[in-house]
Amino acid sequence: MRPDPSITVNNMKANKLRRDFDVTLTVYNTATRQKEPFEPIDPQHVRMYVCGPTVYDYAHIGNARPVVVFDVLVRLLRRLYPKVTYVRNITDIDDKINERARREGVSIGELTEGTAKVYQDDMAALGALPPDVEPRATAHVRQMIEMTEILIEKGHAYAADGHVLFDVTSMPAYGDFANRSRDEMIAGARVDVAPYKKDPMDFVLWKPSDDETPGWDSPWGRGRPGWAIECSAMGKEYLGVTFDIHGGGVDLVFPHHQNEIAQSSCAHDGAALATYWMHNGFLMVEGDKMSKSLGNFYTVHDLLKEFRGEALRLTLIATHYRSPLDFTKAGVAQAKRTLDRWYRAVDDVEAAAELPPSVFAALSDDLNTPQAIAEMHALADKALAGDRDAAASLRAAGEVMGLLQLSREDWEKGRTKAVWVRVHRAVPAREVSTVVTAKGFGRYSEETIERLIAERVEARKAKDFGRADEIRKDLENKGVVLEDGPKGTSWRLKG
Ligand code: AMP
Ligand code: ZN
Repeated sequence: MRPDPSITVNNMKANKLRRDFDVTLTVYNTATRQKEPFEPIDPQHVRMYVCGPTVYDYAHIGNARPVVVFDVLVRLLRRLYPKVTYVRNITDIDDKINERARREGVSIGELTEGTAKVYQDDMAALGALPPDVEPRATAHVRQMIEMTEILIEKGHAYAADGHVLFDVTSMPAYGDFANRSRDEMIAGARVDVAPYKKDPMDFVLWKPSDDETPGWDSPWGRGRPGWAIECSAMGKEYLGVTFDIHGGGVDLVFPHHQNEIAQSSCAHDGAALATYWMHNGFLMVEGDKMSKSLGNFYTVHDLLKEFRGEALRLTLIATHYRSPLDFTKAGVAQAKRTLDRWYRAVDDVEAAAELPPSVFAALSDDLNTPQAIAEMHALADKALAGDRDAAASLRAAGEVMGLLQLSREDWEKGRTKAVWVRVHRAVPAREVSTVVTAKGFGRYSEETIERLIAERVEARKAKDFGRADEIRKDLENKGVVLEDGPKGTSWRLKG
């Protein structure tokens, strides 16, 4: 195979970054409960899995926190490593989904098709790039059945009464990851004591479906998978037996992640599922736990009617990802004022090629976004005093934070990046991975490509075909081919 030249360039750049700043990325690992230097299994290819949403309804602002936090992490990793594969699943089979679909008189497919689409659009509006692979649970039931069979074969699971249960007594280390005693686990999981369970903590890998409930044929009759086996199977399918980072909200540590670990390591003779486990803290709204009765239950969809996605994003990363976050509308208004000022500061200056060292150091320290934001304020002060280098650095910092991606004019006119969503949607998930992989520093960055595509769309709308053509040719010179289709403009790399 011909080596991809962009990989070499990117590698050199990564090494240079590390050498110049003499900092290593450190992350807090829930598995060891300490900050550790990040050492990928394969430095040529970093692999990350984040638990995605259960799409029975619109996402609330709490659901957006892991999406935005891990989007910053993936942007940073892509600066540091030649290839990053980011997988975030969609749970589209679940009892909450079944119940909602039944109530609305639609199939689960019809329900989740709509909610998943809104989810993708809402997350894009928050500036989150789509993951490289966004697998749906219902498309991987075969793999879940296979893993369940392996667990039975190896003596870690048993079939009983149409169910298959994981036998927790077969794994002495069960509970170590969650750092909980047996009593705490029983209380925390609110486990049912069911007659078919050997131990009250045994959890479901497979459960039977009646005729009214969606189900798949299996060696144990018609049924559906348990929640945790979905992630174990999809993680393995796209990232292999052991991968680098597994992420999600802190509420998932137990039972969900503990169960994923039990399943995957027992199915793979003790191999670790992931080497680093990262969890974002919980989000509260206006000082309270979000709840419909308190009137502080904010869906992202509704918030986007009131606020710019970028202001919501800045609000979400203004607190360190592991701390609890009190989300308030006043906080979003404050973030909007910060962005107004930063956009004035960057004006029309292009992003510098290098990430400012102070911002890189902050993010390398377990993704210290509040510190990075403080550094961005300092850059903005300098830029507003006329320092163009500082303005270029501020834009570069914006790239890795997923901020300041518009022109000042677009920001001030209230234009959004709706066109970006369409562009992304036109590229199937699998292809995005190659595009991202091939992203080179001799070429335009993904962000620049998309900014140019958006600009070209505007130019064509204004009937400025000269400018539109110029952009197409410019991109072509950088190896990027545009394809105009009914769903918008998509792009791919030449050859
Ligand atoms: P779910 O759809 O409930 O499985 O949640 C999807 C993701 O959102 C998971 O990573 C959860 O940990 C996360 N999440 C849910 N609620 C909150 C919250 N209030 N604050 C932070 N993260 C949350
Ligand atoms: Zn999961």
